[in-house]
Amino acid sequence: MPNQKTIDEISRLEELSRALQPDSLKRNEWLREISIYADAFLNKLENLKAFNQEDLNGREFSKNRVSDNPTSMHDALAFYDQQVMGHGLNPASGYHFGYIPGGGIVHSAYGDYIADVTNLYAGVYFAGPGAVRLENMLIRWLCDLAGYPENTSGGYLSSGGSIATLTAIVAARDHADISIGDLSKSVIYLTRQAHHSILKSLHISGLDDLIMRQIPMDQSFRMRPGELEKQILADINNDLKPFMIIATAGTTDIGAIDPLNHIGDIAAQHSCWFHVDAAYGGFFLLCDEIKHKMQGIEKADSIVIDPHKGLFLPYGSGALIVRNIQTLLHSFRQEANYLQDTTRKTHEISPSDLSPELSRPFRGLRMWLPLAILGVSPFKAALEEKILLARYFQEKVTGEIPGMEVGPNPELSIALFRYIPSQGDPDHFNRLLLDAIHKDGRVFFSSTSLNNHMYIRLAVVNFRTHLKHVDTAISLLKEKIHELEK
Ligand SMILES: *Cc1c(COP(=O)(O)O)cnc(C)c1O
Repeated sequence: MPNQKTIDEISRLEELSRALQPDSLKRNEWLREISIYADAFLNKLENLKAFNQEDLNGREFSKNRVSDNPTSMHDALAFYDQQVMGHGLNPASGYHFGYIPGGGIVHSAYGDYIADVTNLYAGVYFAGPGAVRLENMLIRWLCDLAGYPENTSGGYLSSGGSIATLTAIVAARDHADISIGDLSKSVIYLTRQAHHSILKSLHISGLDDLIMRQIPMDQSFRMRPGELEKQILADINNDLKPFMIIATAGTTDIGAIDPLNHIGDIAAQHSCWFHVDAAYGGFFLLCDEIKHKMQGIEKADSIVIDPHKGLFLPYGSGALIVRNIQTLLHSFRQEANYLQDTTRKTHEISPSDLSPELSRPFRGLRMWLPLAILGVSPFKAALEEKILLARYFQEKVTGEIPGMEVGPNPELSIALFRYIPSQGDPDHFNRLLLDAIHKDGRVFFSSTSLNNHMYIRLAVVNFRTHLKHVDTAISLLKEKIHELEK
C-alpha cells in the first residue's frame, strides 16, 4: 500500500505540473496574444528592412540563462521581439533576393499548430496510420511530378535538403556495396556548381576518400555530358569504378539545369547511381516550360526537393524521393524489440524505415493544409511569376543601367549581374556596391564568384516578391551606383 505521504507528495507535484495543461480560457487568451503579435508582424512586414547589419540582437540571451521566474505571455513576446526580431536578415520579406529565399506561407503555420497540439506521431504507420498515409500521399504527388513509376517509387519528408541528400548518398553507397577497400577506386562525378551539402554528406557517410571528378560545364554552367562520358570511359580504362553521378536541377548559384536526360542515359549505361539535386528547382516541375527542360529527371535513382523553397513552406521541410523504395529500406529499416508491435505486416511504408529519424515532427500537415485549402494553382502561378520576374529584372537592368553586365539568361528565377564602372576594378566596385546595399537594408542581395569575378545575385523565390519589389530593387541599384560613381 502506498502511504499517505507519497499520495500527498503526488498531489503537490500534480498541482505544480498542471501548468503544462492550461485550461480553455487560458489557451484562448494566449492564442489571441500570439495571433495579435503575428498579425502585427505581417501587417508591417512590407515596411520592414530586408536586412539590418547591426548586431544588436540576442544580447540578453548571452547574459541570462533559463530561470524559474515565469513572465506573462505578453512580456515574453515583447522580450522576444526586442531580442530576436529586426536584425540580420528578414527572410519573410519580399525584398529578400539573397541565397535561396525560403517561404513561410501562413497556412503552414496553422498546419503546424494543429500538428503540434495533437502531436500525432508520423514516424511509424502502426502509431499514426492517417498521418503516415497523408505524408505518403504527398510523396506520391512528388513522385508523380518527377514522373516516377507508381509501383516502385517512394520517399519521405525530411527537415531539409541537406538531410535528404545525406539519406540519398547513404542509400547509394549501400546499394553499390562500397567497402573501405573500394573507396580509392570508386568515382563520383559532379560539377563545380554542385551544392556543398553534397560534400558534407559524402564526409558524414565515410566517403571522403573516393575519387571526385569535376566535369567541365558549358557557358551556361551546365554539365557537359560529352565530357562526363569521356571521363567515365577513361576511369574504366584505368580500372576505376564509376559509382555515382550528381546532377543539379537548378543550381544555387545561377539556377542552371544540367542536361538530365542525357546524363541519365550515361548513368544507366555505366550502372552509376544517378542523383538529381532539385532542392531549389524541383517545384518548378509544376510549370510546363520547366518540366520540359527537366526531362530525364525520372531517370534519377534519387531526387531531393525542398518544399521550404519552391513550395514556399516555412523552414524545416525537405523531401527525398527515390525510384526504387527498396534502396531506402535496405539502408534504413531497423528492428528493435521495443517496437515489436509496430512491425506487423502492412502495405503502407513508414517514414522511420526510410531515413535516420525515428521520432519526427508530423511534417505532412504544414504541406497538405495549404494545398488542401488553396489547390495547386496559386503555387504554380507564383512560380511562373518568379521566373518572369527574374527575366524582367535582367532585361530591365541591361536596358536601363549602362555598364550593367549580366550572367547567363535565367533558366529559373536567379539572375546574376555586375556593374562595370567607368574606371577602376569591377570586382572592387561591386563589393562596394553590395556593401552599400547591405548598409541601406531595404533590399537584400547576396553575391557569388563566377569565372573568378564577383557577381551580385538576384534570386526571386519568396512568394511575397512581386513586380513592385523588383522595381524597388532596380531603383536602389541605380541610386547606389550613382552615389559610388560620383
Ligand atoms: C538549398 C539547397 C540545398 C540544401 O538544402 P537545405 O534545405 O538548405 O538543407 C541543396 N542543394 C541545393 C541546390 C540547394 O539550393
